[in-house]
Amino acid sequence: MPGFPRLRDAYDVLILGGGHAGLAAALKTGLLGYTALLVDRGPKYGRSYYAPKMDNIPGFPEGISGHKLLDLQIAALKQVESAVTYVAPGLATKIVRLPSGEYELEFEWLKRAHTARGRAAVLAVGVVDRMPVVDGKIDPIFPWANFGIVDFCILCDGHTLPGRSVGVLGNDAYAVRTALDLLHFRPKSVELLTLGRPLLEGSPDAEREELTRRMTEMGISRVDAPVVGFDQIREKRFGVRFADGTSRIYDKGFSGLGWYDQHHALPQSLGCRIDEEGYVVTDEDCRAIADSDGRPIPGLYCVGDLRNGWNQIPEAWATAERAIIHAYAYYL
Ligand SMILES: Cc1cc2nc3c(=O)[nH]c(=O)nc-3n(C[C@H](O)[C@H](O)[C@H](O)COP(=O)(O)OP(=O)(O)OC[C@H]3O[C@@H](n4cnc5c(N)ncnc54)[C@H](O)[C@@H]3O)c2cc1C
Repeated sequence: MPGFPRLRDAYDVLILGGGHAGLAAALKTGLLGYTALLVDRGPKYGRSYYAPKMDNIPGFPEGISGHKLLDLQIAALKQVESAVTYVAPGLATKIVRLPSGEYELEFEWLKRAHTARGRAAVLAVGVVDRMPVVDGKIDPIFPWANFGIVDFCILCDGHTLPGRSVGVLGNDAYAVRTALDLLHFRPKSVELLTLGRPLLEGSPDAEREELTRRMTEMGISRVDAPVVGFDQIREKRFGVRFADGTSRIYDKGFSGLGWYDQHHALPQSLGCRIDEEGYVVTDEDCRAIADSDGRPIPGLYCVGDLRNGWNQIPEAWATAERAIIHAYAYYL
């Protein structure tokens, strides 16, 4: 949002993370006549930043890119600029619940540490995808991801796969399940690229047996050699070079690598319960649940990909709406 934000000591709502969920929460707070501080590390740390074309966003029949949609959500904050302080790039470093029941946030902005208090707090810091490491670096995959040649989300991009050959990156049970799940979209072929690591590493024997059998039954082949580089971007294909000197070309790549960081530190510091898949547990109103007693933590909400849900933008928006409307009704 244009202009230089002026910080206050206290807000009605503190929002940590300004991706699709945090931005929607900030807009709703302002529209309901309350103040919000939104601290965001920067759009390029959000998941959709490398989504070149999203097809399930209502109102965009030709699809829209993640960063364009973020720009539009940021522009929408103009409507509520007197109520919402948008700090970006800013890093939320610590949040505590004070004995008064208010929240106190510590954040870094313009190389300085700041604090602000809020009557309610919304955790919206999202999660981070794991990238394949090639020659010690994660950068090589980004050009292919930015062109939508390598995808990260079945629910988002599975529909682009019919009739196409797909190379799935990953070696563990998550990767094998991803490869199997992709078959729903009727690709021409699916091959698992284990990046030089043992297949089904860490799986118990029964799981290993079952998944290996299903891979064979469903015709999923695999390449075990380490990957040393990618090719064919001009041809809009996913060319993969292996350490043994061979190479393969797929129509599409797909990540079966799961999450690099599910951002547990902030929610856990507030006593939030984390489920077995690593998501923050909430109730239907997106109230964060305390690990100690299974009850909602007063005034604390968790929205978007960070919580247990389906990791989609319409869901990020819906959870933000629910959280802020609940806060409006009960805390503000
Ligand atoms: C390649 C790809 C394609 C996708 N395509 C689609 C699609 O077609 N349709 C769809 O519905 N969904 C799609 N998704 C999923 C969608 O991007 C996510 O569901 C959505 O971004 C979740 O929103 P969020 O606000 O929870 O998290 P994010 O958008 O990830 O935003 C989190 C924000 O928190 C900030 N942050 C993190 N830590 C801190 C901190 N400590 N302090 C301050 N800020 C912090 C980050 O900078 C970031 O801006 C796709 C995802 C990927 C990766």
